[in-house]
Amino acid sequence: MFEKALPLLNSYFGYSSFRNGQEQAIRSVLDGNNTICVMPTGGGKSICYQIPALVLPGTTIVISPLISLMKDQVDALIQAGISATFINSSLSYSEANERIRDAKQGKYKLLYIAPERLESYDFIEDLKNMVIPLVAVDEAHCISQWGHDFRPSYRHIQQMINSLPQRPNVLALTATATPRVRDDICKLLNIDDRNTIITGFERENLSFSVIKGQDRLKYMLDYLKKNEHEAGIIYAATRKNVDQLYEKLKKEKINVARYHAGMSDIDRAREQERFLEDKASVMIATSAFGMGIDKSNIRYVVHYQMPKNMESYYQEAGRAGRDGLESECIMLYSPQDVQVQRFLIDQSSDRSRITQELEKLQQMADYCHTENCLQEFILKYFGETETKSCGRCGNCLDSRTSIDVTKEAQMVMSCVIRMGQRFGKNITAQVLTGSKNKKVIDMGFERLTTYGIMKDQGAKEVSDFIEFLISQELIAIEQGQFPTIYVSPKGKDVLLGKQPVFRREAVKVKQVSKNDPLFEELRDVRRRIAETEKVPPFVIFSDAAIKDMSAKLPKTNEEFLQVSGVGEHKLKKYGLEFIQSIRAFLEAYPDYQSECDSDSQAVKKPAKKAVRDSHLETYSLYKNNLSPNDIAEKRELSTKTVEEHLILCAQQGMEVDFAKFIPDEYIPLLEKAVAEAGRNRLKPIKELLPEEVSYFMIKAYLYFLSKNK
Ligand code: ADP
Repeated sequence: MFEKALPLLNSYFGYSSFRNGQEQAIRSVLDGNNTICVMPTGGGKSICYQIPALVLPGTTIVISPLISLMKDQVDALIQAGISATFINSSLSYSEANERIRDAKQGKYKLLYIAPERLESYDFIEDLKNMVIPLVAVDEAHCISQWGHDFRPSYRHIQQMINSLPQRPNVLALTATATPRVRDDICKLLNIDDRNTIITGFERENLSFSVIKGQDRLKYMLDYLKKNEHEAGIIYAATRKNVDQLYEKLKKEKINVARYHAGMSDIDRAREQERFLEDKASVMIATSAFGMGIDKSNIRYVVHYQMPKNMESYYQEAGRAGRDGLESECIMLYSPQDVQVQRFLIDQSSDRSRITQELEKLQQMADYCHTENCLQEFILKYFGETETKSCGRCGNCLDSRTSIDVTKEAQMVMSCVIRMGQRFGKNITAQVLTGSKNKKVIDMGFERLTTYGIMKDQGAKEVSDFIEFLISQELIAIEQGQFPTIYVSPKGKDVLLGKQPVFRREAVKVKQVSKNDPLFEELRDVRRRIAETEKVPPFVIFSDAAIKDMSAKLPKTNEEFLQVSGVGEHKLKKYGLEFIQSIRAFLEAYPDYQSECDSDSQAVKKPAKKAVRDSHLETYSLYKNNLSPNDIAEKRELSTKTVEEHLILCAQQGMEVDFAKFIPDEYIPLLEKAVAEAGRNRLKPIKELLPEEVSYFMIKAYLYFLSKNK
């Protein structure tokens, strides 16, 4: 039976090969074994039951605890041309009945249900009248009390299976299972543990980093500006943090949505939708957000504060890059977070777990402090033994130089001591920089010998430096109504000259993925289709598929089928629209070569180089004072192409005076349009402007803005 699997993968899902673990899982299921499959998020677990569902006769039941996920998964299957539906509490009584009737007639290949359904006698009776070859148990760790999301209704699964006239196979799937949880799953679902498929927890497309001793708000704002075209999540510890950051980001004209348990159901649903539909690019949320979020094109997850344990961290951070494209997971660490989490644990009602939770918190803090590979730290935490450095995380790639800051550290700490170790970070910085602030004078701090000894620096800079000393645990914080700082025992060693202090340069903000105008264009096409079809854009095509399109530039149906993620059904439904857009784009930009990395690039690499040279050639003519029109004429290119070249040059750091290309009278109009439409997408800006203001002028203006902030 397995020989049918690959052709089905290809024709329905448009993928040319199985990923690690998928083939073994599918073989095991088709051989009639109860099976458990442990794969990281984004590993491709769904295919492990969707392909057997297509091969086997009858209807595969999928048990999933997440109502919101069910709809997206079913929508995605329908988009691929597979008959599927779900039954859960979001349906009315008559809707559910209708679906059950259709299911009994064998209308669906896959039926998704919430575990609570299994508690209904009538529903089990209905199942008895269906042909059910396979029961897939998603998030199977929910069956175990040792897991972090125990769901009692999962305990009804085996009962249901036993009651069916023809006993189906079981496939249990999970991303987070320690050996103890795995044992539980096998025992409770009657799986022989020899039928275990584990692919390891590594996420090869994620790069982790920890930023410490830096101003986190500033870091985050820089990061968001640099990655404004990408979708990402920012996790903050409390509702209040979320609200505060939300307001700050809005003020910066960042297209942000928010989510926390203090909001009404309607507000939360609206905000979530805006994010899922790519209408807001950033979601700022507490840990309440994310369960059941299947959005595959999340390019970054930033933790504004540290979560309480590694399980939560990996789960939240793991929401980045489900589509397999490179993505970043950034932790903005400050030692105060440990104290906040410790406080929350102390407050929690379950006294018996406090020691265990504090231990987990300590490991979380260790992650923030390790200088070794971060991905490897995580893998070891989850019990993997054969690990190696990932070569892509912040620690593996850290090439910053360290400078000796022992003297400055001693100045700060001696000032803290002279101030009586009873004051906060900011006033200490003011004293060190010689501020004439009323409080400083009132307290008589200007008489201290350390007053003004760092006056060559700004108070903000010194305050950041104190933050760095806190991150090194040389200075500690006493929590209270106003947190105060004091010198730790380790800090005293530095004061006594027993220990030097080194500080690395600040970490620079990176761009997760390169700009590619065709990729943006195709995302717009996808967004339009998604709006008409009333599904989130990633259900139409993943970013990975769009990226592959802008790399392979398909111009015929056959070529379009070669794109990863395009199956026959999607070719029929959307092929024409995408192919036409690609053709139109290539006519407008005949010189275009994709910036995307793709397997298919092997043949195109030389051409790519030619483009590099091409825009440099344009640049040298520009430097000789030729206008874009003149350059276009001379080089027999379209003006549009020349304009694209100049933008590319600027992006690569060459000097281009864009102000020259925008007639003065358009500046106020552009200013107004950008204020209204935001900077995220060009089209809404263009729509607010007179026809003659070109995309180039808009891009030039935005570039000009970003340089002159
Ligand atoms: P998980 O449930 O393990 O988190 P998914 O089943 O959602 O992962 O799959 C993650 C992504 O990988 C999806 O976008 C899916 O379409 C893609 N994918 C799955 N299998 C393959 C494959 N064999 N080749 C290419 N992409 C795949």
